[in-house]
Amino acid sequence: MHAFDASNHERIAALGRRVLEGSEISRDEGLWLFKLSNPADIYDLLSWANRIREHFKGNKIHLCSIVNVKAGGCSENCRFCAQSASYQTDSPRYGFIEPEPVLAAAQEAKANGVTALGLVAAWRGLEEGPVLDNVCDRLEELKESGNARPDASLGIIKNQKVADRLKAAGLECYNHNLESSARFFPQVCTTHTYNERVETIKYLKTAGIKICSGGIIGMGETLEDRCDLAFSLKELGAHIIPINILNPIPGTPFAEKEPVPPLEILKSIACFRFILPRQEIMIAGGRAVNLRDMQSMIFMAGASALMVGNYLTTLNQPVEKDLQMLKDLGLDPNWDKHGFSDQ
Ligand code: SF4
Repeated sequence: MHAFDASNHERIAALGRRVLEGSEISRDEGLWLFKLSNPADIYDLLSWANRIREHFKGNKIHLCSIVNVKAGGCSENCRFCAQSASYQTDSPRYGFIEPEPVLAAAQEAKANGVTALGLVAAWRGLEEGPVLDNVCDRLEELKESGNARPDASLGIIKNQKVADRLKAAGLECYNHNLESSARFFPQVCTTHTYNERVETIKYLKTAGIKICSGGIIGMGETLEDRCDLAFSLKELGAHIIPINILNPIPGTPFAEKEPVPPLEILKSIACFRFILPRQEIMIAGGRAVNLRDMQSMIFMAGASALMVGNYLTTLNQPVEKDLQMLKDLGLDPNWDKHGFSDQ
């Protein structure tokens, strides 16, 4: 049995109160939180993260869904990814899709009370040319349908013109994850750099597009890497922070990674909430498989957003089950886009 540590209790409470009052915690303080290991301290941390979420977000939960507009055969070698052409996986492959599946996904999103639909493509990135024209067509159709906020996750962007075209087509929010710390990134991917990711985010911000950027935990990174990811996202001004938990895919180099224990996942979410109190912290891939019966505790850990429906290459629990979970917790999925915090 772990003894209750009164000094840790006091320090967590002092940091929690500071965040509630609108002030920030430092990188060293954030790292101290990430390093807590006693379950009693972690539960203490969760209860403060829950108060911070409630203070800044009320009981609103932002729901987001994705549709794959081009699958598999990606030129990049991200070591967690089933869609990289570098690895032998069972993941499907298809070229750029027609309007119908996107519009059907948008209708389904609306029927489920999902705010945003992200168009996701497995490729290196977007340049000017016919592919960008096609992407803009899909975004315009999605916007016109009025069924879901048009979002996208389409890889690296090399210049301002591409970002401006996306904005003109109606794109509101773009997902581009940093994945991990700058230090750990070369162990995740070697076909492009962390800096290219940061540059992409800067073009999008200049275009006036909201930023959805987060990462994956459980790839072998240290607690320092997780902490630095959170502070980098803060510095970049991300609005939505997706936290994925590695779901090791057979055939990928990360297939044999040890799963992160559920309590460690919840602690990481809580630390992100302390560091990023006003942002939407979204739990995305790997939720059901890694958290199992503890899924509903993500909100107590500070999460305020949820990726629902199936992920790109893995299955999630049915949307109805997620909606029931929110109802049971007294949380409201009717989020309005004006809730975007302006950091
Ligand atoms: S994460 Fe994206 S860029 Fe990396 S291999 Fe997968 S599809 Fe390609």
